[in-house]
Order: sequence, then C-alpha cells, then structure tokens
Amino acid sequence: MNHVGIGYDVHRLVEGRKLYLGGVEIPHPRGLDGHSDADVLMHAICDAVFGAVGEGDIGHFFPNTDPRWRGARSKVFLQEAARQVTFRDGKIVNIDATIIAQEPKLAPYIASMKENIAVALGINVRRVGIKATTNELLGFIGRSEGIAAMAVASVERTG
Ligand code: MG
Repeated sequence: MNHVGIGYDVHRLVEGRKLYLGGVEIPHPRGLDGHSDADVLMHAICDAVFGAVGEGDIGHFFPNTDPRWRGARSKVFLQEAARQVTFRDGKIVNIDATIIAQEPKLAPYIASMKENIAVALGINVRRVGIKATTNELLGFIGRSEGIAAMAVASVERTG
C-alpha cells in the first residue's frame, strides 16, 4: 500500500547567512535564517517523509532548542527521515517538491539539489522531483522576505 505525506516550511531571508537549498550553497547576498542551515527545501521534504509514516515533524526529531543541531547540515535530517521509513519496512517511492522564491534564479541548481536529496534519502535520483517558482512579486515571498517550500512523499508500506 502506498502512503503519502505532505510537508511545508518557510524561513526568513537575512543578511550574514549562506543560502542553502537542497544542500546546494547558492551565491546570494542573503541566506535563510534558522537554527540549522535553514535548508527550507530539505525541511519540507523531511516533513513529507515523516508524514508518510505517520511520524512527528522535523521539530519533534530535531528540536531547535537542542545545541546539537545548531548549524547542522539538513541532509542529516533527511537521513533520519529515510531511516524511519526503513525502520517501518517502508520504501520511498518518490518525492516531489516546489520551492517558492522570488530570487535568486534557481534553475541552474535544480539538478544538484535532486542529486543531494537522492543521496541523503538513499534513493535513485529519478525518484526526486524539484521545481521552483516565483511568487509573482506578491506577499512576503514576493518581497523576498523569505523562501518557502512544499513537498509530498510517497512511501510503499507492507501494512
Ligand atoms: Mg525549517
């Protein structure tokens, strides 16, 4: 039986931080603020995978009050999500995600993001879909105050 999960995340864009999306360091004057590397795409995917196995969210597994995760690379979170799937005799079928960012242009980095996410989850890169869209200059994303991501995950489970 296939189970699906959904994930959403948003982080503020601030000065003095590096911008990480899908594990790729993207040249940009500002980066996402957060306790970890604030990789909003990986966080949304993480929650989608946790959701597909009925687990708590990323904050449950990796509280932002825990100094262990300060500055952590978010691939660690994805590795744990994949471990939770395996632990339940599940198998990730596919991931699909959309980044919503007014800037910068992300097309040149999508292939690398897919690769990083596939490696972290231990799945074939053909099972990972990543898209990016702007917010048509509307709202906080349109004003480049932050970047959001949404994701779905499908997990095959025996029970
Ligand atoms: Mg987050």
